Amino acid sequence: MDNKAKLFSCLPKVDDLLAQENIIMLLESIPRGIVVESIREVIDDLRRRIIANRMQVDELTSKIEQIDVLVTRRSQDKIRLKLRRVINATGTVLHTNLGRALISKKVMEHAIEVGTHYSNLEYDLEAGKRGSRYSHIEEIVARITGAEAALVVNNNAAAVMLVLSTMAEDKEVVVSRGELVEIGGSFRVPDVMEQSGAKLVDVGTTNKTHPHDYIKAIGDDTAALLKVHTSNYRILGFTEEVSLEELVRIGRENSVPVIEDIGSGVLIDMEKYGLEHEPTVQESLNAGVDIVTFSGDKLLGGPQAGIIVGKKEYIESMKKNPLTRAIRVDKFIISILEGTLNLYLDQVKAIQEIPTLRMLTISLEVLQSKAEQLQTMIKAKLGNQLSLSIKNEMSQVGGGSLPLTEIPTKALQIETETPSISALERRLRYLERPIITRIYKEKMVMDLRTIQEDDYEDIVNGLVIALNDLKNNDN
Ligand SMILES: *Cc1c(COP(=O)(O)O)cnc(C)c1O
Repeated sequence: MDNKAKLFSCLPKVDDLLAQENIIMLLESIPRGIVVESIREVIDDLRRRIIANRMQVDELTSKIEQIDVLVTRRSQDKIRLKLRRVINATGTVLHTNLGRALISKKVMEHAIEVGTHYSNLEYDLEAGKRGSRYSHIEEIVARITGAEAALVVNNNAAAVMLVLSTMAEDKEVVVSRGELVEIGGSFRVPDVMEQSGAKLVDVGTTNKTHPHDYIKAIGDDTAALLKVHTSNYRILGFTEEVSLEELVRIGRENSVPVIEDIGSGVLIDMEKYGLEHEPTVQESLNAGVDIVTFSGDKLLGGPQAGIIVGKKEYIESMKKNPLTRAIRVDKFIISILEGTLNLYLDQVKAIQEIPTLRMLTISLEVLQSKAEQLQTMIKAKLGNQLSLSIKNEMSQVGGGSLPLTEIPTKALQIETETPSISALERRLRYLERPIITRIYKEKMVMDLRTIQEDDYEDIVNGLVIALNDLKNNDN
C-alpha cells in the first residue's frame, strides 16, 4: 500500500506536462483539447497499472521520462485520418475489405482537377444550358459495349434495384432458383427484389432449370425474366441452366424483356490472357439481353458504381424514376469511371494501365523478379533475422469474380520463431502504413501480385519497426 502511494505521488500533473518543452512544441501542430485528452489517457493508463500491481519504481520512472513520446504518439493517432493507404500482400486482387479496384494514377489526376475546380458536370457546353451528368458516360459506354443507352448509379445492388423498380414494380419477375444467391453478405437477390417492389417468381430447382420452367411461369403479370450471374459460387455436377440465348428467345416469344445482372463488368475477354472465361457485357448485349447491370469496381477496374446498359426506352424511364436521384453518383465517380472506360478504347492500353487488369495478367517471370528484388531489400536491412524464401503460391481474383479461379503466383514466405508469426502479422497491421499479409501453417506469405512497386520500401521499413518493437516488447 505504502509502495503504491509512493508510485501515485510520482505521477505528473496535467498542467506540468503542458508546460514541458516537447509538449509545447506538440501544441503547435495539434489542437490543445486533443493533447490534454492524450495526457489524461497516458496518466490514467499508468495509474491503472499501478493499481493492478504491474508497475515497479524504475519502470515507472522510465515511463515518466518518456511520457512526452507517449503523449505525442497518442495525439498523432487521434488526428490521423482513419481511412488510409495499406499494403495488400494477400494476393487477392479485388479485395472488398481493402477497397476493391485500384484506380490508375492518370485517371485519378484528372479527377483531382475536376474536383478542385468547377466542371461541366450538369452543363451542356454547346447549348449553354443545363445538361445531364450521365451524358459524359453514355457515349463511351456505347462505343465500348455497343449499348443503345447507359445509366450509372451508386453500385450494382442499387442498379438492380432501380431496374426492377422501374420495369417490374408490383409485377412478377421470373428467376431460376439456382440464381437466388447472396453475394458479399449484403446483396441477396430475393431481398433486393422485395425492396424494389417486384414479385419474385422462382422456377426450377437449385441445380436444374429448364426452358419450360420459365415458359410455364410467364403470365399476364410477368414484367421480366431475370438472370443473375452466380458470381461467387458455382454448382457443379448434375446441373442445367437455360442459356442466355434461349432465355432471350423465350422472352421475345412472350414479349417479356430479359434483364441480366452479370455482377462483374468484364469488357475484355480475359480468356485471351490466360484466365477463366467470365461473361462479358458485350456477349450479353449481343445475345439480345434488354438490360444488363454490373459493378464498376470489380473486373472493370474502376470506381464503386453500378452500370446499367441496354435498350434506350427502358433506360429513359429509369432516369425518370425518383429512386435514381437517391442513388445518383457524384462528379468524382463520373470522372474516374469515364477515365477508366476511356482506357478501354485500346485493349492493350487497358491491360497495361488499369491496375486490376495489370495485376491479373502479370507474368510469373515478372512476379519472380519482383520477389527477388523485395527479398534482397529485406535481407539488406534485416540480415538473417527472418528466414525468407520465394514460393509458388496461388492468388485469388476476389470481389465475387471468377469464383473458382486461382492464379499461379510468386510469394515471399517469411518464417520466424521469435517473435511468433502471429505476433508479427498483428504488428504489421498496426503500422503507420499497415501491411496485410496471409498466414498459412505458421508461415507468413506476401504475394507479389498485389504488392505495388512503391510498397517495397514501406514493407522493409515496416518489418524493421515491427521486429524492433516486438524485441523490445514495447506496446
Ligand atoms: C458483386 C455483385 C453484386 C453487388 O454489386 P455491388 O457493386 O457490390 O453492389 C450484385 N450482383 C452480382 C451478380 C454480383 O457479382
